[in-house]
Amino acid sequence: MIDDWTDLTAAVTHLCAPFDNSYWNGLEAAGAYPDAFVQALSEAGYLAALIPEEFGGSGLPLAAGGAILEAIHASGGNAAACHAQMYTMGAVVRHGSAAQKERYLPQIASGALRLQAFGVTEPGTGSDTTQLRTRAERRGDVFVVNGQKVWTSRAMHSDLMLLLARTTPLDQVARRSEGLSVFLVDMRDALGKGLTIQPIETMINHNTCEVFFEDLEVPADALIGKLGQGLRCIMTGMNAERVLIAYECLGDAAFFLRRAVAYAGEREVFGRPIGQNQGIQFPLARAHAQTEAARLMVHRAADVFESGADCGAEANMAKLLASEAAWAAGEAAITTFGGYAFARDYGIERKWRETRLYQTAPISTNMILAYLGQHVLGLPRSY
Ligand SMILES: Cc1cc2nc3c(=O)[nH]c(=O)nc-3n(C[C@H](O)[C@H](O)[C@H](O)COP(=O)(O)OP(=O)(O)OC[C@H]3O[C@@H](n4cnc5c(N)ncnc54)[C@H](O)[C@@H]3O)c2cc1C
Repeated sequence: MIDDWTDLTAAVTHLCAPFDNSYWNGLEAAGAYPDAFVQALSEAGYLAALIPEEFGGSGLPLAAGGAILEAIHASGGNAAACHAQMYTMGAVVRHGSAAQKERYLPQIASGALRLQAFGVTEPGTGSDTTQLRTRAERRGDVFVVNGQKVWTSRAMHSDLMLLLARTTPLDQVARRSEGLSVFLVDMRDALGKGLTIQPIETMINHNTCEVFFEDLEVPADALIGKLGQGLRCIMTGMNAERVLIAYECLGDAAFFLRRAVAYAGEREVFGRPIGQNQGIQFPLARAHAQTEAARLMVHRAADVFESGADCGAEANMAKLLASEAAWAAGEAAITTFGGYAFARDYGIERKWRETRLYQTAPISTNMILAYLGQHVLGLPRSY
């Protein structure tokens, strides 16, 4: 089933119009967070699209969230500053207690609270999540957290963090995936009391950080879901994240193709439009085909997610295909724009750098292929 989100897409595209290339370039030059953009999205209710209506959201399906993100990216913008809210809050919706939902979801839906930080990756643990070393030890009414996260995006612009930490040491669990737990950390309480945040300079303006925990006391009622079952608790959210990122890639591809096709029709070299040359036209046509094929898988992944069935295979394939389609479109756009692809004013190079991330994060292409090889094709585990 493919829902029609045409009106939603048009409304988001309209909202994005004032946030043009100079807005995004200006933020990047200053290393700044897109506060005005996030505020506008929040006020329009788009960041609460997936929160159930009883908690103040719109209760829309994942595909609607995807349509919002796709429209942002197709406009030339970037949703990385705020997309996490759409999948991190899923852990609270699906695994939170009634009290946790009451306490947090309405405030997240209204925009009063930002749940943008997702602390999983550590310096020694990227692809192999089960090896993470951040410890949360129960002491009376609190968990005491020690350790470090890295690449915790938006940590400086979030009120809450969804944190994955080890609550049972690795040598005391039957399976490596056990003994991990999820906490909803109130960062407003924690800053300066055992939590420190250090921004990382990156090739894109992603507001990503290192986060250090030193005897940080987290109330026991911050535990989301069952103790020791944290990986299972966030896995559904990680699949949602992959599908939503795949929608962003579709948006990136649409941006590149729209801009490149227009330029290929306008720019004349040797007395004819460059789009008349097969060397320019064919890569664009191929990227278009790749994007439309990826779109089918992205929509299917969203549908399987919504049905409640395991969508691991579809979510991974959607992210793989869409990230590669966006990259192909980006490459074709770089060729089409020639030297002007490198001029910041054209917006192509920024988007090209931004879209490259999706072959690395939130899960790298190699790990997707390893998942498909093992879990879908039944080949021996490759790692
Ligand atoms: C801008 C940015 C934002 C991010 N935001 C967040 C965030 O908000 N929260 C968060 O928790 N994390 C975040 N991440 C982390 C991201 O999820 C990891 O970088 C990613 O999972 C890869 O982990 P790693 O960098 O440690 O690579 P590694 O695990 O060190 O792997 C390095 C390379 O080796 C490959 N490799 C490793 N093992 C195998 C194998 N067995 N077979 C084949 N290839 C293999 C990997 O695919 C990768 O290409 C972010 C990263 C970036 C760059």
